[in-house]
Amino acid sequence: MNDIVQPGSAQLGTVFAAAVSREDQWRQLSAYARAWAEASANGGATEDLRTNCRTQLAQISRLEHCWAYPGTRLLDTLRDLLEAGDASSVARLARKLSAALMSGDYRRDESAWDAAEASDARLLDTLPPDLDSGAQGKPYFEVLVVTPSDPAQWLRSADEVRHMRRGEDPFEYAVLHVGSFEDGALAVMVNPNIQSVVLVDGFQYTSKHDLPDLKQFLARNMDIDAKSIEPGAISTRLARAIDGYRPEIDLYLLSDRSPELLAASEEAAPIRRIFHGIEEPMELHLAILDGIKDRYETPYFDNLKKYAMRPIGTFHALPVARGKSVFGSNWIRDMGVFYGTNILFAESSATTGGLDSLLEPTGNIKKMQEATARAFGAKKAYLGTNGTSTSNKIVVQAICKPGDIVIVDRNCHKSHHYGFVLTGAQPYYVEAFPLTQYSMYGAVPLRTIKQALLDCKAEGKLDRVKVIDLTNCTFDGHMYNPRRVMEECLAIKPDLVFLWDEAWFGFARFNPLHRARTAMGAAAALTRRYRSEAYRDEYKAWKEKNPNPDDATLLDSGALPDPERVRIRAYQTNSTHKSMSAFRQGSMMLVWDEDFHQVEGPFEEAFFAHTSTSPNLQLIASLDLARRQMELEGYALTMRMTELALRLRQTINAHPLISKYFHVATPADMIPAEFRESGITDYGPPHGTWADMVDAWHNDEFALDPTRITLICGSAGFDGTQFKGLLAEKFDIQINKTSRNSILVQTNINNTHSDAALLIKALADMARDIEKRLAHEGKTGREVFDARVKSLMTDVPDLPNFSRFHDGFRENPKAASNEGHMRPAFFMAYDEDNCEFVRLNSEDVERRLKDGPEMVSANFVIPYPPGFPIMVPGQVITADTIAFMRKLDVKEIHGYHAAVGIKLIKPSVLSGRASSMH
Ligand SMILES: *Cc1c(COP(=O)(O)O)cnc(C)c1O
Repeated sequence: MNDIVQPGSAQLGTVFAAAVSREDQWRQLSAYARAWAEASANGGATEDLRTNCRTQLAQISRLEHCWAYPGTRLLDTLRDLLEAGDASSVARLARKLSAALMSGDYRRDESAWDAAEASDARLLDTLPPDLDSGAQGKPYFEVLVVTPSDPAQWLRSADEVRHMRRGEDPFEYAVLHVGSFEDGALAVMVNPNIQSVVLVDGFQYTSKHDLPDLKQFLARNMDIDAKSIEPGAISTRLARAIDGYRPEIDLYLLSDRSPELLAASEEAAPIRRIFHGIEEPMELHLAILDGIKDRYETPYFDNLKKYAMRPIGTFHALPVARGKSVFGSNWIRDMGVFYGTNILFAESSATTGGLDSLLEPTGNIKKMQEATARAFGAKKAYLGTNGTSTSNKIVVQAICKPGDIVIVDRNCHKSHHYGFVLTGAQPYYVEAFPLTQYSMYGAVPLRTIKQALLDCKAEGKLDRVKVIDLTNCTFDGHMYNPRRVMEECLAIKPDLVFLWDEAWFGFARFNPLHRARTAMGAAAALTRRYRSEAYRDEYKAWKEKNPNPDDATLLDSGALPDPERVRIRAYQTNSTHKSMSAFRQGSMMLVWDEDFHQVEGPFEEAFFAHTSTSPNLQLIASLDLARRQMELEGYALTMRMTELALRLRQTINAHPLISKYFHVATPADMIPAEFRESGITDYGPPHGTWADMVDAWHNDEFALDPTRITLICGSAGFDGTQFKGLLAEKFDIQINKTSRNSILVQTNINNTHSDAALLIKALADMARDIEKRLAHEGKTGREVFDARVKSLMTDVPDLPNFSRFHDGFRENPKAASNEGHMRPAFFMAYDEDNCEFVRLNSEDVERRLKDGPEMVSANFVIPYPPGFPIMVPGQVITADTIAFMRKLDVKEIHGYHAAVGIKLIKPSVLSGRASSMH
């Protein structure tokens, strides 16, 4: 797989790929050097082999100034040995460096930094990372110094910093120096080890390194326009660029300008501390460590560990606390053996002993909430311990009251729909674009959402529309452009609340690509935008042209919200356990609401209504740890999972054998062209560069998250469920979900290249099996296979749209807006006398579809997959729905039992209701 992304290509568009595959490049150098050394030892021809090493080292060196390790000293040694023709020493050193990079030994082993040290580099290519590294050594990071000083001094200066280390320091770091804005920006992008940046006033803008396209690359990725930067503002401008790109990084400025004045300026806002140039280096050292400590600290987890160590007698609930009922038991001692002592020692039902209360946090949970908000770029954060299923209900209940209208994607997770029943909010269901060929839905077009708003406006009930509720990204990877959605909807109603269900997307905060498509990223960007002078001018100009924008303008052009009236009100929920290192059910609710003072009370009520009074301590602690991890290595992990996904996509679709039977759905397959304005069709070479992807992600109405890989298996004759079973049984591969003819493969922060290789191998094996079988079975076999493929790929049921609520649940049955009272319909079903059943395949159904009376669903019917409600309480059942139900070949359908049939509200009950309402 390693040759899929050609490392070291001169194109800066592949810089990211090059950075991610840096270890591969080093391994390649080591292999070349070994070949050279062996040939030398055997007296064979060596010049070509040496040239290989030289070329490879030159390629590697293009970006090596972005890393502290191996650093100039070791690289120079390697180069000298190469030029001196000492093949065996080159091989030894290259192998040592490559192994140290691969194993991460340079993070904890001093000898890795020493060229003279005899190499005992193990063959680490296949060893897993050292699980104990944290316990063995101090966590290691790198500090980038951007400085005008003479490069000849850099090495000495780096050595000085190493000597400043003290035994009591909780972390260790190495420094690397660069001399320009461009190199600084580049280093932060490609080197995830960098956690702190020290800017020394006075450095220049332009890089001395020969990197073609660098400017264009920086402009795209960091939104930098070199011309706009005044010479005196280079360091603060770099600080802003870094803050926008990797907000978790701590920034320090060393300046001769008056630090007091600087500190107060807006320019310096992202900078953590400003030092006067001549101050003590020890101060800076301590500040740097302090910055890391802030992110490393896990207030709740730290305290829980302490708590577990204390000898405490318990006379409260929870017999397992401190393991007492377990280790003393004759019958369940294996519970203690399996889970270990710590988990039991860390169990308590107390909220004393510093454990704080999730329901009324005043101590470390409060601190934890603040750290979570900071890490995820929110104004406020709440922690959920019953999954996003409950978090959604909490948020819905906090922001809606009976009678409010919520414009909502019908494909939203069931928790939203149940939330509306609970609060009495009226859903106005809008439809996502269908991907009928894969039996799945995409996302809701912005025009559809705006049309819904305008329908409500036309009917004089815009004031009742409280919330827009969408899933971002969807199960299948459709990412909204939340900036655009919020801006254009706010132009119609400036105080709308947005609920973005980002159950899958919590990780997205931690790299700039995904972040641009997140609720919190968009809220921050729009807040900045609406506060700027430039926006006021833009709005004024637009308003002059459109003094009274009509509906067509609002619908079809990018209308602008009034900066005097617009409010940014965004809520995000995420299943931390789905994309980060939290235990199952760990969830977060993030808030960016300029009017939160109106919501705070209701939010608290909703939180109380839904949260257990005995929340699980380990779960809370795991949320704390997940946050720490992401704030310190989220950039590295999410970039890696993205790169891995891109490789998987390319490998599968380009593989001559695999691609005969399997196909990964591309952006072009998954997003209709009208929503893909950039025209991007696929990711990665040869289809496009990273830069194309950046552009598409910035502007297009929808983009496809590459980490969510829809693998079409129907073309290999497998339906999704069957294929999922096969992968699990024969190859030990677990995948996410299935559709009729596809499965969803998801890369995550835990995935490695070996996982990818395992999947590729499985697909290749299966493709070979099919070939063999077809060859063996001849013409008839081929016909059976083709028929099976056809049935899976073309014979797909149409996806039923939301029909409508029965007139009895609508205030104005003639209105274009379709919102309805779902709550009364839901509770009607509690009375058996109100309900009746019809069998799916009965004459009754046919007759009633034709002659009435209308069939009205008494409850939610939710098939898994696809997991959206094909019926909601009070909904009129149409022929589409029945046809879809009949074609469904899934076992799990919540709310429907084949033996009794579809549960309906009796027509007699409904007619009573209709007359009482009108
Ligand atoms: C999984 C999921 C939920 C529910 O989250 P849990 O943490 O499993 O309770 C909600 N919304 C979406 C879009 C989901 O995918």
